[in-house]
Amino acid sequence: MPQMLEISQLGNPVLRQVAQPIHNVHESSVQALIDNLLMTLVTSNGVGIAAPQVGMPYRLLIVASRPNPRYPNAPLMEPTVMINPHLISHSGEVVKDWEGCLSVPGIRGLVPRYRQIEIEYVTRNGELVQRELCDFVARIFQHEYDHLNGMVFLDRLESVREIVTDHEYLNHLVPTTVVA
Ligand code: ZN
Repeated sequence: MPQMLEISQLGNPVLRQVAQPIHNVHESSVQALIDNLLMTLVTSNGVGIAAPQVGMPYRLLIVASRPNPRYPNAPLMEPTVMINPHLISHSGEVVKDWEGCLSVPGIRGLVPRYRQIEIEYVTRNGELVQRELCDFVARIFQHEYDHLNGMVFLDRLESVREIVTDHEYLNHLVPTTVVA
């Protein structure tokens, strides 16, 4: 039975570590970690999660854009598990939008990200996949990918004035942040 895992919060050293590659995706401990991450993601209303956020410093993340109370305007997609992901190329265009983080509860920040990216990763079945992501989904990937390199979204802010509380975000800012 998959378990909900405890989320590591800002201040926990695991969030500042560079995560290690996974050598054998078929190992039962890796497959169990994936199931537990999926369960944790759904339970916490996230649209993405990275293994270091549950205290596991491995290069594994999940992108799972969907409309939910924390991101009411998100597009719907199947949760996609990405192991040992790489950013292959990116657009010159950078866009700023609001992000939150399960590991940084209570606040949002306006974060610049590449609008379009080309990525490569290994699936939970061991297949190597290349694909292009854009807009909100590309943003989620870049946010989670940062977690694998010991970074959080606060590190990317252009000004601390671009931090707001969840309360203000959900009551006043959501209608202006539609991403298609
Ligand atoms: Zn995060």
